[in-house]
Amino acid sequence: MSYAAVTLTGIDPRGVIEGGRLWLRGEGLPAPPDRDAQISVGGAAARVVFAAPDRIVLSITGDGGFLMNGMEVSTAVHYGQQVIWVVLNDAGYGMAYHGARIRNISDVGTRYPRVDCAKVAEGLGAQAFHVREPGQINREFMNKVIASGRPTVLDVEIDPDEVAPFGSRLDTLADYFTV
Ligand SMILES: [Mg+2]
Repeated sequence: MSYAAVTLTGIDPRGVIEGGRLWLRGEGLPAPPDRDAQISVGGAAARVVFAAPDRIVLSITGDGGFLMNGMEVSTAVHYGQQVIWVVLNDAGYGMAYHGARIRNISDVGTRYPRVDCAKVAEGLGAQAFHVREPGQINREFMNKVIASGRPTVLDVEIDPDEVAPFGSRLDTLADYFTV
């Protein structure tokens, strides 16, 4: 998720897993677990937690990635491992939508009705919260989530019109697909 990859600072060395220049949706799923990993930008968190059981594991992903790989929540519930997923929910494939518009190509298939990712997570046995206001996620709130020890999904509604920080992703895609 580009927001996290571009803006995370102050994380311990080897504390972040992210999937490189393409930032694929839900890409973290096949990533190898890393004993020192703390934050997963994608879906690898449910595997990382087994490799680093002494650390708090947080996954920052989009709703598109969650829809593709969110069943990992069930794995964490099954094994009683806490992972905290932060789902940045803009009701679509935001990177594809904005990338297509910037490149002046069709954005067909990049939007869909908003999915209640918190309800999906609850259905899988996790605890979940809707986050709709700035400041709702704060230290006190996170301390309670962590203290629960439960797999948790935070369904964070974000502005679908806000253009995500692409970094070099568009150039990388152009290298592959010449769009
Ligand atoms: Mg999205």
